Order: sequence, then C-alpha cells, then structure tokens
Amino acid sequence: MIDELIMESEKSLEAQFACAEEIAYYNQSKVLDAFRKNKIALRHFVPSTGYGYGDEGRDTLNTLFADIFGAEAALVSPNIVSGTHALTVGLFGVLQAGDTLFSISGSPYDTLTEVISGKGIGSLADYGVRFKMCELSGGDFDFDKIADGLKDESVKVVFIQRSRGYEWRDALSEEKIARVTAFIRAQGFTGCIFVDNCYGEFVEKTEPTENGADIAVGSLIKNAGGGIAPTGGYIIGKREYIDRIAGRLTAPSVGAEVGSYAFGYQYFYEGVFLAPHVVCQAIKGGLLIGACLEKLGYTTSPAIDVPPYDITRAIRFDTKEQLIGFIQAVQEASPVDSFVTLEPWDMPGYQEQVIMAAGTFVQGSSIELSADAPIKEPYIAYFQGGLTYEHCKYALTKILSKLTKF
Ligand SMILES: *Cc1c(COP(=O)(O)O)cnc(C)c1O
Repeated sequence: MIDELIMESEKSLEAQFACAEEIAYYNQSKVLDAFRKNKIALRHFVPSTGYGYGDEGRDTLNTLFADIFGAEAALVSPNIVSGTHALTVGLFGVLQAGDTLFSISGSPYDTLTEVISGKGIGSLADYGVRFKMCELSGGDFDFDKIADGLKDESVKVVFIQRSRGYEWRDALSEEKIARVTAFIRAQGFTGCIFVDNCYGEFVEKTEPTENGADIAVGSLIKNAGGGIAPTGGYIIGKREYIDRIAGRLTAPSVGAEVGSYAFGYQYFYEGVFLAPHVVCQAIKGGLLIGACLEKLGYTTSPAIDVPPYDITRAIRFDTKEQLIGFIQAVQEASPVDSFVTLEPWDMPGYQEQVIMAAGTFVQGSSIELSADAPIKEPYIAYFQGGLTYEHCKYALTKILSKLTKF
C-alpha cells in the first residue's frame, strides 16, 4: 500500500519534477560559467595558516560566489559559524546608532530576535538601532504599509526573509522580491535592501542580488554548501556594504585581507558546484513527501500544486504524538545516529522547546534530510533537505509506516 502510494505520487509530480530539473540545469550552467571565468585550479584548494595574507583560495572563493549570485563582492568564510552569525555580522556592518531596521516580511527568524532587541547583551538595540516591521498580507508584501514605513527617514535597512522560517507561509518568490525592491526604490529609498537568503539559494533561476537586493546572506550548511561544506556562511552584495561588513567580520583596519583555513577550501568550491543538483534532489524529495501526506489527508505548505520557493516544507499534524512520531521517523531513516530516540529540548536562541531530527554527516546540516518542530499548537513539522532523492523516498517509507499507526 505504501509502495503504491509513493508510485502514484511520483506519477502525479512528473511536471513539477521536470520543472525542478530544468532549474537545476540552468543553475549548474551558471555555476560552471563562474568556475571557468575565475579559472578555478587545484592551487585554490591548498591550506593557509595564520593571518592568511594573500590567501588565493579565500579571495577567489569570494569572487566566485559574487559571480554566481550576480553581485559585486562577497565574503564566504569558514570563520562565519552559522546563518545567524552571517546575518548578525551583516546587520552590524550596515547599521549605525540612530538607524532603523525595517522588516517587511514579518518577524525575522527566531534566532535574530535577541540579536535585534535583546537587552544588555550587545544587541542592535543596545547599540541604538531601532527596529520596526510590517507583516505580509495574503502571502505577498503589504505595499501600503511599506510605503508608510519608508516615510521615516531613519530607516536605513529594509529586511526581507525569503524563506518561511518557522511560519505557516510560503517562501517569497524572486518575482515578488523583484517587484518589492523596485517599489522600495520608487519611494526614494537609498539605503540597503538586505535579504535573509537561507534555504532559497538555487531554488529558482535568479537570486535576490539579481533582483534589486543590496545584500544577501546565508549559511553554508544549507543550500549553498551543497552538503559538502563542513561549516561557514556567506554575505554577498554591493562592494561598499561588503567592505563595511568585512570590517565587522574581522577588524575595520584589515577587513577581508585576513582569514586563513588550515584545511583548505576544496569543500566550499566542491559544495557550491554540487549545490544546484543537491537543491533539486531536496526539492523533489519535499514534493514527494508532501504529495504522499496530502493524499493521506494532511495539510502541507506550500500546497502540492504551488511551485516551491525554498527547500522547506511544513506539515500540520493533529496531535503532539503524530508530530513527534514524524520527526522520529526522519531520524530513524538517517545515515548517522539512526538508533537514537529524539526528545524535545531547550535549544539556544529559540522561544519554545524544539525537537530536531538531524542524522547528518555535518552536525545540524539542513541541506541534508532533516526535520524540526517547535513544540506548540498548531503542531507543525518543518522538514527540508535530502542530499539524494532516493534518501527522501526511503525516509518516506519509514514516515508512512509510522503515521499509518496513529
Ligand atoms: C536557518 C535559518 C537562519 C539561521 O541560520 P543558522 O545557521 O541556523 O544560524 C536564519 N534565517 C532563516 C530563514 C533560516 O532558515
């Protein structure tokens, strides 16, 4: 019965799979064009130590990423420890005391709450940066509220989160991002348009930096690392902002001239080379799991007939037991730590208890098949990733045999 359900779902998804594969080919070409343009060679993979002056592997990785994302400059670094760190360094780089940060896609990702408004911990608020936001409206930007918010001249950074985060909303398409950046400029805004690009890379044919954003930021243990990068993050965009952000990442006097990596940069190059394909595997896996669960009567987001704009998928469960069962099934189907029994825990940076399946080669990597959920009503699991479509399908058999018991 499970095999039939999966086969039927695969049939019904043929058109969406073809679409994802076409995007992957387009992005693979884009990535290879950039590799060829930058004449990537074995010498770019050699280790560096100490200050890393003249580290060609580091410098060329930056220009490679800038070219792939259609931007002027980039900071791509194992010294950026996570997506939250990349976003924090980026925001502290572009904002100054007295400025206002204006989020136009609702609340930023959970781990940014304290970065923005924590008390007495060195947050943006502690340094005199104000914050305001407006919600999305019916899945799109609220143009009236944005125009209104921009009348305040202290707004220096407009913030957009491309992916859903822990929200029951679809990710924002590049078409919507292009429309809103044009609108923001039409209001006379001359500051920085800043995009949290986590989970969005290579899902579409263009990136925010090609659609009017000044800065895009993400993690290398998500899409852009291709499942191979062992750690790191990136910040990409306009040269003037990247120079300022480089001064925050290291020190204002030395910026991007320093930074070494004794393991060499091979896995970052190889990761971004693999990323378009891996993202396609994750997209197809997410579609398959979504389609099967919808057939069983669960509600998923995005709905199965809507094109996905990030690699995450949310599923709504009726009970806490179903939710935990689902996350546990993902863990049991993992290549690493398949034997552990998961429990909810107080994860740093999150407001509620979280349960997280990450039986991954790289700790916490969510381009690898992974799932997590805050323990609160309504019971929603977010899952994402999958280095191979086959792994997603295998996990689905475990998920289905568990769920059909409830
Ligand atoms: C994952 C994520 C972050 C934070 O990245 P970490 O690497 O977990 O710190 C921020 N924003 C979005 C939308 C994310 O998906």
